[in-house]
Amino acid sequence: MSKAIYPGSFDPVTFGHLDIIGRSAKIVDELVVGVLVNSTKQPMFTIEERVEMLKHLTKDYSNVEIISFDGLLVDFAREEKADIIVRGLRAVTDFEYELQMAQTNHIMEKCVDTIFLTTSLKYSYLSSSIVKEVAWLHGDISQFVPAFVIDKIQEKIS
Ligand code: ADP
Repeated sequence: MSKAIYPGSFDPVTFGHLDIIGRSAKIVDELVVGVLVNSTKQPMFTIEERVEMLKHLTKDYSNVEIISFDGLLVDFAREEKADIIVRGLRAVTDFEYELQMAQTNHIMEKCVDTIFLTTSLKYSYLSSSIVKEVAWLHGDISQFVPAFVIDKIQEKIS
């Protein structure tokens, strides 16, 4: 039985994240999307709002659970009895940091391995920061996030 954690800030969740969730949910038996309480970033959405959006958007997946966490990812993985971490790789720029994190996590917890899914080409440019930047400037974000998320973003910026 394989159980994986897909960690991230998801502020907000984009089509790129949902693509990784859908694809990894097919690979592992159970997938926990871990929403990081990140005190160093000033988020647009509270942790509860991010969890609620993800729950709504993944309700059709029977093997996906959304849980918030803070502290070390390997501690969260241990708590959840997960032995896999899933990360998305968009470009070479993601690689160096991701490699360092994967190796660090593996040294801290030998039982945990990181697998990387390369982004679908159509989402390779996409990040939560880009979505927020375009939204603040009143641009069209319908190709980046689902309608449900657009409504939540509009509430924040209006
Ligand atoms: P973090 O702050 O941990 O990078 P994010 O919410 O930005 O959190 O991203 C979470 C994970 O999703 C990361 O592994 C990131 O590389 C991946 N990701 C983000 N955007 C995309 C995308 N457009 N396509 C594929 N993976 C993505």
